[in-house]
Amino acid sequence: MALSVLSLASEAVPLIKTGGLADVAGALPGAVAPHGVAMTTMLPGYPSVMRAIGKGRLLHAYPSLMGEPARLVSATLGDHPLVVLDAPGFFAREGGPYADPAGHDWADNWRRFAAFGRAAADLAGGAIKRKRFDLVHAHDWQAAMALAYLRFAPADGGRAIASVITIHNIAFQGYFGAEVFPQLGLPDSAWSMHGVEYHGGVGFLKAGLEAAGAITTVSPTYAAEIRSPQFGMGLEGVIMAHENRVHGIVNGIDTALWNPETDRSIAASFGLRSLARRAPNKRALEEEFGLEQDDGPLFVVVSRLTWQKGMDVLLEVLDHLVGIGGRLALLGSGDAALEAGLHAAAARHPGRIGIRIGYDEPLAHRMQAGGDAILVPSRFEPCGLTQLYALAYGCVPVVARTGGLADTVIDANIAALGAGTATGVQFDGVNYHALRAAISRTVALYQQPDAWRTIQRNGMKCDFSWARSGKAYADLYASLVT
Ligand code: ADP
Repeated sequence: MALSVLSLASEAVPLIKTGGLADVAGALPGAVAPHGVAMTTMLPGYPSVMRAIGKGRLLHAYPSLMGEPARLVSATLGDHPLVVLDAPGFFAREGGPYADPAGHDWADNWRRFAAFGRAAADLAGGAIKRKRFDLVHAHDWQAAMALAYLRFAPADGGRAIASVITIHNIAFQGYFGAEVFPQLGLPDSAWSMHGVEYHGGVGFLKAGLEAAGAITTVSPTYAAEIRSPQFGMGLEGVIMAHENRVHGIVNGIDTALWNPETDRSIAASFGLRSLARRAPNKRALEEEFGLEQDDGPLFVVVSRLTWQKGMDVLLEVLDHLVGIGGRLALLGSGDAALEAGLHAAAARHPGRIGIRIGYDEPLAHRMQAGGDAILVPSRFEPCGLTQLYALAYGCVPVVARTGGLADTVIDANIAALGAGTATGVQFDGVNYHALRAAISRTVALYQQPDAWRTIQRNGMKCDFSWARSGKAYADLYASLVT
């Protein structure tokens, strides 16, 4: 009998995405299926989700769920079952999943995701007709309250259930004022240091970490880093208290979507044995970004434009990048000040720096296929997907040595170059000097075509498909279900 798992996420491709969580939640059901796990995903009913599922099938109707009428509707996510919380009062809004069109967090986020957690706990615990699950897997703070409800306020007829919580980014914790606590529908016993209380307020992620049978995060290095104040961001004590239950499992990439041999969004397909066919993609990208064509390396960046991603430091090194013969094509959106700084850099270096502000999935593919090297100067990076896509596409990753970046890229130091194992460039510390030196080193490597091709090929040979990580999750689930 397959193990039946309910995966709770606030995003999943192809229905709703703001970051890597969506890629993971969308791929996980297919990744664990070969290992005897039948996974149902549950999502909030954002407009894009409701449009995609159409009517669906009604599972349950709540006259009032945390103050709003709501329904649980079943549908499908690719080949796998999906349950959607259709609560228009909470989710039928213009703007992003967490913020209004101006970028401000929705003021009632605590209520929206408490409602999601409450309904998920009802479903996971078996209180909604006909549905039984062996384990619930919550992703990030938006899903974490499900575990607190299962622990402190299971529905009538609900039962204890094994659980896992995955931290995709500990910087996002779902922290709210103490005044929301009485409205959560939890007993007073939940208000404790080992319950939902966190620094005098309510911590959604913290509550999930305290309640979960196992905690995972998305790379071994990040699992170690979040024990320290620098990376744990206040939750390091909670992580340390549960450290024997913390696991690091690197994300996979969806090779059906990210494969340069079959990718329809790129100008010319290519593979390990046909690297020369990459060239038209570079030319196409240069044209698309209005860049001059020459023999120098074309750097790319595909990123949220935030402090986490080190985009402020990137701005500082752009003159140097151009000065040593590099060009840059950047796709991203985020902080207005960073966007302005990038526009200014592009204006200073016409034909050398091209900028696209926005979110454009097919363009992200074209950039991985056409760029020579991708810059990922993240201050912290739980796993990171862009460097994994880059490896698969022969776009050499230049990464900060942190989190999943440290675990997935092999630095082209003398030893690795000698052994023929290098896949990219790593640097220590996200600051002007370190990034500048890494860019110089990359340009020098690019000027040695044989060494460069070996690095590209090594990256393309890496297997970061979901096969390995899918098995790791399935093994973890099996160990928790007795
Ligand atoms: P994070 O989840 O922290 O943003 P990841 O590297 O784990 O970082 O995942 C980022 C994902 O979002 C990747 O799939 C990347 O290609 C995509 N992405 C980021 N910014 C953009 C953008 N502006 N346009 C298209 N895709 C983007």
